[in-house]
Amino acid sequence: MIIVLEPDSDDEVLAAVVRQASNYPGIQTRRHVIRGTEHTVSEVYLLGDTKSIPTEGFEQIPGVRRVVRVAAKYRIIGRHGVAAESVGFEYNGVRFDERQVHLFAGLCAVDTRPNVEATARALQAAGIRTTRMGVYKPRTSPYDFQGLGAPCLPWVFELAGKYGIRVIAMEVTDPRQLDEIGRALEEAGRPTGVMLQVGTRNAQNFELLKRLGQQQEFPVLYKRGMGISLEESLNACEYIASEGNPRIIFCLRGVKTHLGDPHRNLVDFAHVPVVRRLTRLPVCVDPSHATGRMDLDPEGIPEIFHAIGQGVISGAAMALVDFHPDPKVALCDGPQALTLEQLPLLVAYTRGVRAAYEAARQLFAPPAGEVRSA
Ligand code: PEP
Ligand code: MN
Repeated sequence: MIIVLEPDSDDEVLAAVVRQASNYPGIQTRRHVIRGTEHTVSEVYLLGDTKSIPTEGFEQIPGVRRVVRVAAKYRIIGRHGVAAESVGFEYNGVRFDERQVHLFAGLCAVDTRPNVEATARALQAAGIRTTRMGVYKPRTSPYDFQGLGAPCLPWVFELAGKYGIRVIAMEVTDPRQLDEIGRALEEAGRPTGVMLQVGTRNAQNFELLKRLGQQQEFPVLYKRGMGISLEESLNACEYIASEGNPRIIFCLRGVKTHLGDPHRNLVDFAHVPVVRRLTRLPVCVDPSHATGRMDLDPEGIPEIFHAIGQGVISGAAMALVDFHPDPKVALCDGPQALTLEQLPLLVAYTRGVRAAYEAARQLFAPPAGEVRSA
């Protein structure tokens, strides 16, 4: 059961809700705070067997907006009728919600300092404050480049700060890496922020997921499992949230089947609206790992652009895109990397598709004065 408080309500209301909950043995409470641009909404989750608890006792408390009986299995990440305004979070000065799109353009794998610097400089020139930088790389073959690991963190963070990057999506493959990242950020003087990425290969690594949920410092970018159902991936996000960290973005990145040939994966971006309907997680798409190739259509538009477009036109809030100053020599995933010269084109393209999505939303907007119940 979820008790939703009025926006910006004070601790008295919270205390009254917790007091009311204490009348029911075996029920625990957990508070979730959703910070929007204008308001902060607190919710109190009643954990335990709440079936026989009447809602009236909570509804009568002044300052309680409504009480939601959660039938769905995604207790924390579930949408539960929550409107768009309550979706998302802010991290390091960047707002992640359903009202804007962030391009996380950057290196699949950090290789050299000059390449990180060239990429960060191009991002700044394009007005982008978010990037991807892989440092711990999970590779199919043990003989492939495994990433530079912790030693490169100091200069990656330094360069990110130098070029105004606020958030770096960085995959972690082992809980110990959270401490390495936290320490390096601290030692560098926190010039930037990190969004911890769970790769598709770790989509059901429950110990890693729990560890990511037990910290609140970093938000989490969860990449859907390539060989498991959507439901299983959403349950994995619920693991993170149920441990205490609801700041999660759900990333679609294609699923593994030869039916997607010649793409690396079968592009699954038709699931963007499904994830938005079922959960309140902002949705990301990764067109680079989904398509895996740099082919062009007959007009010269890269297929990767078309894949991003499919995600953005459906309401994706973020796209993770591989770039490299010289894809031919990239140590990881060069064949799918865009060049830095293509970055301004991608920005313009994404802006155009987003405008089309906004127009589509207007077509379905409720008549003036009516509010859509999500
Ligand atoms: C990546 O984003 O670098 C990556 C390895 O992606 P995925 O886990 O989706 O394969
Ligand atoms: Mn990659």
